[in-house]
Amino acid sequence: MSAYAFPPAPVVSLPVSGSPRRFPVRRVYCIGRNYAAHVREMGHDPDRTSPIYFCKPADAVMEMPASGEGVFPYPPETTNCHHEIELVVAIGKGGRDIEPAAARDHIFGYAVGLDMTRRDLQRAAAQAGQPWETGKAFDASAPTGPIHPIEATGELTAGAITLSVNGQPRQSGDLSQLIWGVDEIIASLSRLFELQPGDLIFSGTPEGVGAVTRGDTMTCSVAGLGELSIQVQ
Ligand code: MN
Repeated sequence: MSAYAFPPAPVVSLPVSGSPRRFPVRRVYCIGRNYAAHVREMGHDPDRTSPIYFCKPADAVMEMPASGEGVFPYPPETTNCHHEIELVVAIGKGGRDIEPAAARDHIFGYAVGLDMTRRDLQRAAAQAGQPWETGKAFDASAPTGPIHPIEATGELTAGAITLSVNGQPRQSGDLSQLIWGVDEIIASLSRLFELQPGDLIFSGTPEGVGAVTRGDTMTCSVAGLGELSIQVQ
């Protein structure tokens, strides 16, 4: 007889580029307002204050194939679902109170990810002083490509990050524009939470966020991590 009342949820995992082994996902941390031009387009002042963190459930992560079409199911209860292209940092070694200079040792690799957002629900919550979960943490809200090990990519601190919809450029930024660099994010997060292997960190999105509708194709890329093609269904 099973120890559980019903079968436990399966482990969420992502493929590791160049390896037969998969990356098991533990937690998904996200940082908000981390590119100045995007902070301005959202109506805020990009002065460097503390980073804003929120989480998505691990099972919001949806594996996107490295080649060919991935699929994003259009979520319910929104008429304004936005794309946010992000560099995703995969943690391979946990820790507390990590120094920025030591952050690299904790990075397993990187992926291209989307922080899909029900902007209408996020805005309504923010205006009411309520948390962002309904806008940010919905099912399938984190389409993510394969993890590229840092041994293959080197440390990513600069390079283009872009998203187009149906061939039209929407978002175009550079990793060097991050207000809080990946090393600083790891240091800051590790003071708030004990990081563990399997954690993913979505590092924020550049300007140009906007709505998608069913039938759209999003083409997403981060320099050194290839390109994802994702159809909205
Ligand atoms: Mn985001």
